[in-house]
Amino acid sequence: MMQRRPIIGGNWKMNTNLETGMALASQVADAASTAKGCDVVIYPPFPALQAIDSVISSSPVTLGAQNFWPEDCGAFTGEVSCEMLTDLCVTSLLIGHSERRHVLHESDVLIAKKVDFAIRMDFQVVLCVGETLVQREAGNTLEIVLGQVQSGLESVKHDSMKNIVIAYEPVWAIGTGKTASAEDAQAVHSAIRQELASRYDDDVASSTRIQYGGSVKPDNAKELFACSDIDGALVGGAALSGESFAAIIEAAC
Ligand code: PEP
Repeated sequence: MMQRRPIIGGNWKMNTNLETGMALASQVADAASTAKGCDVVIYPPFPALQAIDSVISSSPVTLGAQNFWPEDCGAFTGEVSCEMLTDLCVTSLLIGHSERRHVLHESDVLIAKKVDFAIRMDFQVVLCVGETLVQREAGNTLEIVLGQVQSGLESVKHDSMKNIVIAYEPVWAIGTGKTASAEDAQAVHSAIRQELASRYDDDVASSTRIQYGGSVKPDNAKELFACSDIDGALVGGAALSGESFAAIIEAAC
C-alpha cells in the first residue's frame, strides 16, 4: 500500500493580530522542526503573511492563504491575486472551505474556476468538501461530498493531481466541538478515494492526500489519524494554540 505523508494545516481564519500571529507561527515552527514525519502548513490572515513568512522561512512550515481571486489583475476591489501571494512566498491555497461556501456563498462554479486557476499558477490546492447536518440526516452525505469533489476537480488533469489535497470537513463539525466518529470519517474518505480511482486511476487514488477537518483536537487526533484513508487534518480552533497544534502535529508524525 502506498505510504502517504500526512499533512497538517492550521486555518487561522480571521483571528490573531501581528504580534500574536508571529508568536504562534514561531511555536508552530518549533513543533514542525522536531516532527519530521509530516507536512505542516499554516493559513494566517492576509495582512500578516509577510511577517509570518519571516518567522517560518527557515523552518519546514509552509505558508498558505485562505482565499484569492481567480484573475491575473484588474478591477476586483478588495481581492488578492495569486501573483501577489506568490510574492509573499505563499505556496498553498484553501478553496471551497465551508465558511466560503455557506457564509460567503461561493458556488461550485466559482470553486471550480479557483481550482483551475490555482493549479495553472502552480499552487498546492486544498479542496475542502463536506455536507451540512441536514444533508447528513437526509442520508445524502456521499452524494453531496462526491458531487463537490467532481465539480471541484472538473478541469484538473491526471498530472496535476499531485498538487491537490482534499479536505473532508463535515460542516456540522466545524467549530462546533462535534467530530465525526473515526468510523464515519473513514467511510467518507474511502468513498472519496474510490471516486478518484474511477475519475483518474489507482495511482491517483492511492497517492492523493485526504485530510479530515472538523473540531480536531489533541485528544481525538490519534484515533482519526489511525484510519487508513485519513492523511492528517485541517485544523481551525485548535490551530490557534501553539500547544494544541503541536500536539496534533505530533500525533500525525
Ligand atoms: C476549519 O476551519 O477548517 C476547521 C476544521 O475548524 P475547526 O477545527 O475549528 O472545526
